[in-house]
Amino acid sequence: MKKRALLSVSDKTGLEKLARGLIERDFELISSSGTAKFLRSAGLPVTEVADVTGFPSILGGRVKTLHPAVFGGILARRDEPSDLGELVSRNISPIDLVVCNLYPFERAASDGAGTAELVEQIDIGGVSLLRAAAKNFRFVTVLCRPDQYDAALADWDLRGDFSDGFRRHAAVQALNQTARYDAVIVRTLSRSLGEPCPNDAPLALSSVNPLKYGENPYQSAELLLPAASRFPLEIKSGGGLSYNNVLDLDAAMRAFALLRDRPAAAVIKHTTPCGIAQADTLEEAWQLAHACDPVSSFGGVAAVTRNIDAPFARILADRFLEVLLCPSIDDDALAILSARRPKLRIAVWDGVQPQAKGLRSTWTGFLAQDDGLPPLPSPDAGRWVGTPRPELWDDLILAWKAAALSKSNAVAMVKNGATVGIGMGFCSRLFAVEFAARQAGEKARGTVMASDAFFPFPDGVEEAARAGVQAIIQPGGSVKDEEVFAVSEKLGVSQFITGVRTFRH
Ligand code: 5GP
Repeated sequence: MKKRALLSVSDKTGLEKLARGLIERDFELISSSGTAKFLRSAGLPVTEVADVTGFPSILGGRVKTLHPAVFGGILARRDEPSDLGELVSRNISPIDLVVCNLYPFERAASDGAGTAELVEQIDIGGVSLLRAAAKNFRFVTVLCRPDQYDAALADWDLRGDFSDGFRRHAAVQALNQTARYDAVIVRTLSRSLGEPCPNDAPLALSSVNPLKYGENPYQSAELLLPAASRFPLEIKSGGGLSYNNVLDLDAAMRAFALLRDRPAAAVIKHTTPCGIAQADTLEEAWQLAHACDPVSSFGGVAAVTRNIDAPFARILADRFLEVLLCPSIDDDALAILSARRPKLRIAVWDGVQPQAKGLRSTWTGFLAQDDGLPPLPSPDAGRWVGTPRPELWDDLILAWKAAALSKSNAVAMVKNGATVGIGMGFCSRLFAVEFAARQAGEKARGTVMASDAFFPFPDGVEEAARAGVQAIIQPGGSVKDEEVFAVSEKLGVSQFITGVRTFRH
């Protein structure tokens, strides 16, 4: 009996060559209407699915191949007499090969299609064809991608049939394809419908970008992007990004997003800022950000929040940086920087924040959480303890941003629009304050300070007061809050209590 192949594809790449190959190998071809039309126009003989089922495609193509005459032909176990008996009694012929690729949902998603268009791009019958053929892999072969076609014909030619090994491999590919397809639908449609995406929604990753190595040279690594998304940065100059560059850029992008209301600069080292400043001009902010910790800022990843012009490019070129993030750069500025710093990667970002879920791997599994920016404190949404100091608000907010961007435990001291001391990544809040005070030195006098979480004891506040801090912004919430507040009032340090913690562990 002639072997039968069902072809139903949206992507017609390689289809004509495959169809010719199948006909040469004595296959009979059955196709849904669009695919049949394509094959017929190439001069190839093909039977329409509707002629096999005796039922036309209905609902504008929503129901095309979903019919027992199709699915019975795919799913019948060839070694099960009752299955074969049913095929005979119902006059259904077996289908030996399914070639199917799905409606291009992912492309519609990356083209920004609206909900109605996305819904129409949800393939129903094609997914069922792939699953059915994969389920019956002992007897049926399934091809879900054009790049499998040549290998399929080559496999056939070895023995005049597909091998068990090829069918098994192809079944796994098809099931992976449907799983991935559904994952993209869950993630895209949840966003389009304004529904929260479940935390355990399957990840759909695409664009595997190999990196030279991971955090260290003994670790291999790649950058995986969510399906239907693009890498948001345009790299204008320098070589490729390293694993650690991508990680530090993440911190730089968050800094950019929090600081962009004014000309600002942030220098990032090991995912945490070592200097942040906002000023009237980018140049001023740049110098102030570096002044916070000139030693650590060497070789860092930096963000600036305004366009880079030629005069500023000359200033930038004086410092050794690995990566520079900016919203835009003039052509002459780019020429200056890439001539003087050929290895510097210049990453341009339009500032559109991805709606990301934060996923982190641990040895036990993955941790997932919302990954947006923390809500900015507002004078109306918190309370003062001690004398209100609204005149210090701008610096308090900048300190809050610096602490919120820094690794916990974090405190940041700010004076006149610039950090002068950042204590971050310490296991105790007291040590974080001590470090920030030491870094700030004499500049700590008259600063304000932010803490990413409450003070568990008064000692951190006492240390800050000793260094010269005059006001603190912190979330509060310690069982010892009253004691901490009493000490700070006694020392003349005002506090603004936000109620919102901003840990970054
Ligand atoms: P064609 O261009 O041949 O008319 O349609 C091919 C596309 O239809 C393929 O992408 C295939 O996955 C999809 N498809 C096949 N059968 C059905 C069905 O019954 N319902 C839906 N919604 N799509 C189908």
